Amino acid sequence: MARRGGKGRKTGLLLGAIADDLTGATDLCNTLVAGGMRTVQVIGVPPADTAVPDADAVVVALKSRTVPPARAVRESRAALAWLRQGGARQIFFKYCSTFDSTARGNIGPVADALLDDLGGDLAIACPAFPTNGRTVYKGHLFVGDVLLENSGMRDHPLTPMRNSDLVAVLGAQTPHPVGLIGHETVRQGARAIGRALDALREGGVRHAVVDAVADRDLAAIGKAAARLPLVTGGSGVALGLPANFRESDLLGEAGQAAALPPASGLAAVIAGSCSPATLGQIEHMGASCPSFFVDADALAGHRRVAADALAWAVPRLGDGPVLIYASAAPARVRRIQKRLGAEKAGAMIERCLARIARGLVDAGVGRLVVAGGETAGAVVGALGLRALRIGAEIDPGVPWTMSVGRPRLHLALKSGNFGGPDFFTRAFAVLP
Ligand code: ADP
Repeated sequence: MARRGGKGRKTGLLLGAIADDLTGATDLCNTLVAGGMRTVQVIGVPPADTAVPDADAVVVALKSRTVPPARAVRESRAALAWLRQGGARQIFFKYCSTFDSTARGNIGPVADALLDDLGGDLAIACPAFPTNGRTVYKGHLFVGDVLLENSGMRDHPLTPMRNSDLVAVLGAQTPHPVGLIGHETVRQGARAIGRALDALREGGVRHAVVDAVADRDLAAIGKAAARLPLVTGGSGVALGLPANFRESDLLGEAGQAAALPPASGLAAVIAGSCSPATLGQIEHMGASCPSFFVDADALAGHRRVAADALAWAVPRLGDGPVLIYASAAPARVRRIQKRLGAEKAGAMIERCLARIARGLVDAGVGRLVVAGGETAGAVVGALGLRALRIGAEIDPGVPWTMSVGRPRLHLALKSGNFGGPDFFTRAFAVLP
């Protein structure tokens, strides 16, 4: 087998991952890049004859968290087939660190289908990410200091989580036995976890929920999972995986994984997130850069807002970054939602911002920051981007990325509450 002699010599794909949403996929990519793996994020399942990009890890971003289980299974299996065709040595199924799922799935059904296709008999399930306040103890998931069922996730509009007992939650989503590896075992390290996995396997258990209350637990779990065909969890448990590949001499030392080709082209920010962090970032950038407000009321009145925004932006682009935002404070958001309904208002604004993004790229923008998870999805779709190579972090959880193929573009996709107040302006300053 070819060894990776330090400087990015190609040994083929090591880790193939399937993520159940776009920003979750980016989060995982970020963790893998930090661990020294050159990582590409692919948006949606590519056509079967598409070559798997040259990378140590490829993460396929689906939108399968809340779709009917049969569809989530179908798309996840297609992603798996593509990743295996690219030579992936291990598969990671990434879901949210708050185990976001509906009563029917989709974590259990997808994990079962992936295990079937891989011919595996046991997978671990570990959403813990202690640094981000997600811990699992005695199989119960905590968000900060409270149980999952007492956290904000209790009232999530799509995936309300009202039971913190992951063995029970996952048990309700699969016909197979679910077991637990408790912290008394995990804290003894990788060998003890490995023995516990063997014992569960012999007992017919197919999914092992694993406790983790500190990042060193994740490292031990990652090590113990080296030979499992399938690992499932949040991005935290992926922290431990790059070391396994390095141990097998398949991966060079960490260092160059975040390197992207130099950026070129004009600069712009598009914001559709109405989170407090984004509103602060807009105010900060607005103080030193030209900004244009996409007025949802005007848009609802069928004014040609996208064309107006582009006519405003294009002559200014040569002078430095411009900001185009629809984001508004809660009272203003409520007003338009009352008029159109929340979903319709959101979709209308996303469409408009996506059209503006297209126009900006056509006008020569090559460095683009987008704020908002749904907004980012709409922009990426409108630009026809299929894959992104992941670069260095701007702020925790938000890396610069670069499109693979056309259009050639550096892109930062920031989900709502991420980033410091100067995120928008600093993003361009840190880009080589
Ligand atoms: P976040 O990551 O903060 O959740 P998203 O982009 O996922 O951001 O969601 C924000 C939603 O709010 C999008 O659907 C966007 O179109 C919508 N939106 C943006 N500005 C407004 C506004 N002024 N009024 C109503 N909805 C808005």
